[in-house]
Amino acid sequence: MTTPTGDVTVDGLVARERMRRSTTLQLIASETEPTAGVRAALATVFDAKYAEGYPGARHHGGCAVADELEELAVTRAGALFGTEYVNVQPYSGSAAAMAVYAAFGVIDDPVLALRLDHGGHQSHGSRANFSGRWFNPLHYGVRASDERIDYDQVRDMALLHRPRILVAGAASYSRHYDFALLRQIADEAGCVLWVDAAHLAGLVAAGVAPSPVPYADVVTVSTNKIIRGPRGGLLLAQQRHAAALSKAVYPFVQGGPAVNTIAAKAVAFAESATPAFADHVRAVVANAAALAGALTAHGLRIVSGGTDTHLAVVDVSARDLTGLDARDRLEAAGMVVDKAVIPFDTRPVAQGSGFRIGTPSATVAGLDTGDMETLAGWIDEALRTPIGPRHRAIREQVADLLAG
Ligand SMILES: *Cc1c(COP(=O)(O)O)cnc(C)c1O
Repeated sequence: MTTPTGDVTVDGLVARERMRRSTTLQLIASETEPTAGVRAALATVFDAKYAEGYPGARHHGGCAVADELEELAVTRAGALFGTEYVNVQPYSGSAAAMAVYAAFGVIDDPVLALRLDHGGHQSHGSRANFSGRWFNPLHYGVRASDERIDYDQVRDMALLHRPRILVAGAASYSRHYDFALLRQIADEAGCVLWVDAAHLAGLVAAGVAPSPVPYADVVTVSTNKIIRGPRGGLLLAQQRHAAALSKAVYPFVQGGPAVNTIAAKAVAFAESATPAFADHVRAVVANAAALAGALTAHGLRIVSGGTDTHLAVVDVSARDLTGLDARDRLEAAGMVVDKAVIPFDTRPVAQGSGFRIGTPSATVAGLDTGDMETLAGWIDEALRTPIGPRHRAIREQVADLLAG
């Protein structure tokens, strides 16, 4: 329960959103539910503090307590990920990304990353994003045969174009990465290896996915995707990059950090180091595998044939639907997903031929692998017909399942 704001209109919207979240199933791969401790930390007195700079070297007065707090968050993140340099100030994953470009690149530098339509992210050289406007984007893809990253293409392009930065990590790629191989390629090509672990970091913290930390020059994280933290960013790096990255975050990209968010990050890092969190993330991954398997049994094709992680991309082109149609039909049936493009998609990005599902929120809601079989049946059914009475009936069943 949140404290009322006293603003009737906003309180009404909060109540409606709370109702929406508790009666429909959130299957958005980039969403989870922050813990009660994290929410409490966000609502503390630290939201009033200006603390431009870093502990011991602030622009503002009165930062002694904020300094201790930031050092605590840094120490906890360093222990959680086993990294030398930590910066807890980035406002978001995208702000952390901008700091990476600022620390390692200059305008027009070539940057090599996964194609957006193969699962990549807009901050990896999309023309609609600063990264594609101010840098020179080059893209590798997945193989048509198995829809996994084509590391031979990564090497060929890296040696041919000699990018300043090689980027790995994606928004809609469900397989583990070969970080050792990426490191080798980066060394051969003489470039910086940036792993965008926006999603991945929670899996890494729980020990269920390989860690990029031993291999990457720099790793960026969103603290609100699988990690049940506040909306925010995090930078992890080798110590030799400390000065460049610190200056890139502040003052190059940002002003004062959100000190209450840093408090919430400190809480989240401690919670993410517990066996309970590791159990939760194992359940998230088991649920994703079960859901992907059950959808396959219903005749839906999963990109790359399955998943190693918390997410899967489902191809609906054989059902003569767009990803947008699929998203709308599923939402009418109480299941909230993202539309997605599939590798080598023939439809425009605004429609796509698939949808992306993820299990972090559903797992927080208490669903298990048995429930995933039920969900797959509902998804299959909801996709089969235009929105109608059957969708409303499924929506009620979803609400009943969540009410448990
Ligand atoms: C979500 C995401 C981001 C951006 O993170 P925000 O915290 O939303 O700014 C960056 N890269 C990838 C791969 C992502 O999935």
